Parts: sequence; structure tokens; C-alpha cells
Amino acid sequence: MTEHHGAAPDDARARDFLDACMGVIGRDHVRSAAQSADWRRLTFPWPGRALAVLRPGSAEEALACLSLAGAFGCPLHPVSRGRAWGLGSRAPVSDAVMLDLSRLDRILDIDLLHGSVRVEPGVTFRQLHAALRAREAGWHVPAFGGPPDASVLANALDRGEGTGLFGDRFGQLWDLDVALTTGERLRTGFGRFEADRVAAIHGRPAGPLIEGLFSQSSFGCVLSGRLGLAPNTPHAGYITCEIGPPERLPAFVEVLRGLVRDQVIDSHDAFLWDGAKQVASVTIAREAPPEATSPQALGAWAATLTVRAAHEMLSDAKRAIAIQALLPVSDSVGLDDPDAATPRHHSGLYGHSDGANLTSCYWAKPSLPAGALDPDRDRCGFVWLCPVLPFEGGALQRLAAITGEVADRFGTFVMSGAEAVSVRALFGYVSLAWDRDEPGADERAMRGRDALAAAFAAEGFHGYRLAHPGIAAHGHTRGDWGAVVERLRRALDPGLVLGPGRVARPEGDADG
Ligand SMILES: Cc1cc2nc3c(=O)[nH]c(=O)nc-3n(C[C@H](O)[C@H](O)[C@H](O)COP(=O)(O)OP(=O)(O)OC[C@H]3O[C@@H](n4cnc5c(N)ncnc54)[C@H](O)[C@@H]3O)c2cc1C
Repeated sequence: MTEHHGAAPDDARARDFLDACMGVIGRDHVRSAAQSADWRRLTFPWPGRALAVLRPGSAEEALACLSLAGAFGCPLHPVSRGRAWGLGSRAPVSDAVMLDLSRLDRILDIDLLHGSVRVEPGVTFRQLHAALRAREAGWHVPAFGGPPDASVLANALDRGEGTGLFGDRFGQLWDLDVALTTGERLRTGFGRFEADRVAAIHGRPAGPLIEGLFSQSSFGCVLSGRLGLAPNTPHAGYITCEIGPPERLPAFVEVLRGLVRDQVIDSHDAFLWDGAKQVASVTIAREAPPEATSPQALGAWAATLTVRAAHEMLSDAKRAIAIQALLPVSDSVGLDDPDAATPRHHSGLYGHSDGANLTSCYWAKPSLPAGALDPDRDRCGFVWLCPVLPFEGGALQRLAAITGEVADRFGTFVMSGAEAVSVRALFGYVSLAWDRDEPGADERAMRGRDALAAAFAAEGFHGYRLAHPGIAAHGHTRGDWGAVVERLRRALDPGLVLGPGRVARPEGDADG
């Protein structure tokens, strides 16, 4: 297991800090360590603990908590909805008081003309989708495979992914309202000007762009942000392709790259999955049919591509071009018109996230619970690795070989997938699922995770998003990157109290 940084506050300091916070947000919104046991659950073994939980009810109260954390030197970790399952759930990297932002759940405005929305951190995907539907908006927030009650803003800040051309959430995020532990508050976009007529439509004022400093960093806490929405495309449908064993990936991926380059298929609209991920998305091991769990079936790849267009003729032409190109490199090709079976607002193509994919966290559990799934509560073992790969068939075949070898060596269930995020790069989605109640399974799975991380790093497939165990290892870089980032952090959070351990510190720099 990898080390983590940061210092726990002594009891007296934490008590004084919590007393001061009670004065600002009210006694009812401060939970002690004893009342925060459920905040210590996550889907893999991890030592970082929630020391207490603060639940501010407004941006002003959240800013006051940050400022007090800075003044008292108490570690504080922001969480918007805490559904980062497989990445660290709502547990801090190092021991910290949790700043739970879920009560900040207002949609501050929706620009229906230009398609953008300003949201607070507690706004969920389900809530935003319902609000857009209620207004019959011609726009949607891109759907994703994660939980619908996750935070839209946190997902964007964490550089999460949705489907379609607007699926790069951080790329669609701007004009952040940021609070610092110094007590300062700033807007990163045009919202900082008195007359802010273009703040809702354009994210890049003249001068340095500093949004990136608040993504995957906890250098500041984001109190709201502006998100670009995706236009609804009236003509959209899926193409599904059976590809076969990993040896067939190179030819398929070469054809797919051409389709993405030529804008027949948009980036974030081409997903490839191995058989393990396909079967685990719909059922658990005990209930899966034997023919779906043979080594051959688990290792067979398939793809789901989306064709979208505003005009029917364009949609038909794109579909025909794609099918003609894909047939020679697929075992079979199928078409699926979502409008035929599903009401529009229930289709992922129009922003509906159904959370069905969460079934894959339960693969090794004895049963799937009825009602809402909660992998923390149900002691699912689950962890993500998110490597970036070149958009090349050989690279994806290599990822498949590495994951297959690690699954065999550690006797753990590994699922693999990839998504075209540009004409040049694929994001890999690799996850391990096990039952945390099975003796020895935690240890075996985490050793498998570490082996995968080491193999990906050796290949040069570094991560674009890290689960807690991957963060410390990420500190080993060339040049002065670590030292410079550390100076930036100290400028924004001089007491080094916010999100301790969230960004790896340079080697030998252990204070704070
Ligand atoms: C089966 C499965 C499928 C998934 N599919 C997807 C997918 O398709 N796409 C995807 O992107 N993810 C996916 N996920 C991952 C994850 O569930 C989501 O990314 C989810 O959105 C994260 O939870 P959250 O939004 O509640 O964020 P939180 O847990 O609240 O926060 C996430 C991170 O951002 C930081 N943070 C939160 N709020 C703030 C703030 N206001 N200011 C500063 N920092 C902040 C937190 O400290 C934390 O590090 C999937 C997970 C599972 C288990």
C-alpha cells in the first residue's frame, strides 16, 4: 500500500476549530467523529479517516469554515456528494475534518438560449436533468456511467467523463467561484467584472487561466461553477460491434480512429469493453450464465458507438459510412434506435444517467440488493485505474494483455474498457471488483491494483485521474514540477490544510 502525507490535528486544536465552526453553521450541522462512522466506509482498504463532518448551508458559511481551518491549522477535505466510488468514495486521502457541501444544492441559473448552467456543488445529475426537462430545454448535461446522485460540479472538477462531444466535463467548466483557506474568494472567469454580460457564454477572459489549479487539487474549494450544456440532437442512435479476442483490436481501432478523425463518430461517443465489463454491467458472478464467464467470453471485446446529427439525411449518411467501414473488422454489427423503445428523456442520448453500471461493483458479492445501490454500505471491493493510451490498436491490445495477466496472477476479477476522447487519445477504464467480506480478498486485489499501476506506468500509460492509492506514486516525476506545484499550493493554502495528501508532495518535503 502506498504512503500518504498530511498531519492529523491534535485533539485540542480540532476541538477549538469545531467549536468555532459551530458558531458559524450551527451545532446541528457539525457531526463528531463518533457520529461520522459511515464516512469511513469505502470500497478498498485505506487509512485516511473522517475526523468530523461540517455541513455548511451557504457559500458564505463554507467560506467561513475554510477560513477557520486556515486560522486553526486544521486539515479539511471538501466533498460535494461523496459518490467517488472506486476512487476513494468520500474518505479523505489523509485524516481530515470533512467539508460536506451537499446542502449547497442550488441551480443558480440556466441560460436556455446559449446552453449553460451555473450550479452549486450539491447539485446532482438527477436534479439537473429534471430541471432541464421541466423547462423543455433544447440542451442536456451529458449522461455518464456513474451514480445519478453524484455532483455535477465535483465530477467536472475531478475531470470526469460524460458521453458525446461535450463529454469532457472539465473542458465545459468555467468561471469558478473559489474560496481559499486565507478567507479570500475569487471568480476565475468574466464573473469577476462589474458588467459580466459574457460570463455565461465564454470562459476565457484575457490573462492567465487558473481554473486548472482547482481541479484534482483541493488548493481551493469551489462554491459554484458554470457548465456548458450539450445541444439535443434529434437524430441519434447506437451502433454495436462484436469485435472478438484482443488480437482483433488493432484492425478495429485503426478503422475507429479514421471515423473519429473524419467526424463521423464524435469523441466521447466510441466505447470499447471486454467481456468481463459487459457481463458485470448487467449481473453478478453467481447469477451469470456459464457461457458468459468462460475465459474466452470474458476476454472478447465489443464496442458501442453513437451516431448523432441534427438532420436525418446527415444521420443516415454517417451511419452508412460507419457501418461500411466497421463490417470488415467486426464479427457482427447491430443498430439500435433508442427512440423506438425508450422515451427520449430516459435515454442516455438526452442526458439521462441511470446508474445501471453500478452493478459491476457487486460482481463478487453473494447478491445484488433491492433498492438503491451503495457499494460503500454493501462492502463491495472496487477500485479504478484510469490510464491514458495512444489511440492505436496496439496500445489497447497491450492494455488487454496486461489486465489479463494480472487477473490470472492475483486471482482477482479485472474489467477493462476504453473511450475515444480525441482523435489522438483513448482513456482506459480498468477496474477490479471483489467482496470485502471474503478473507484475504482486500489484500489480493490491492496487490493486483499495484501491479497494474506499475505495468501501466512502465508502458507510459499514465493516469488522467487517480484513486487514493495512486496519488503518492504520482509524485515521482522528472524536473521541477513537484517543487513548483508545491509553491503554488503554499501560495493558495499557506497552512497546507485543505485536502491534505490530495496532491503528492515532492520527495523529502514532509512538513505540514
Ligand atoms: C460503476 C461506476 C461507473 C462510473 N462511471 C463514471 C463515468 O462514466 N464517468 C465519470 O466521470 N465517473 C464515473 N464513475 C466515478 C464516480 O462515481 C463519479 O466520478 C462521481 O461523479 C464522483 O462523485 P461525486 O460527484 O459525488 O464527487 P465527490 O466525491 O464529492 O468529489 C470528488 C473529488 O472532487 C473533490 N471535490 C468535490 N467537491 C469539490 C469542490 N466543491 N471544490 C474542490 N474540490 C472538490 C473531492 O475532494 C474529491 O476528491 C463511476 C463509478 C462507478 C463505481
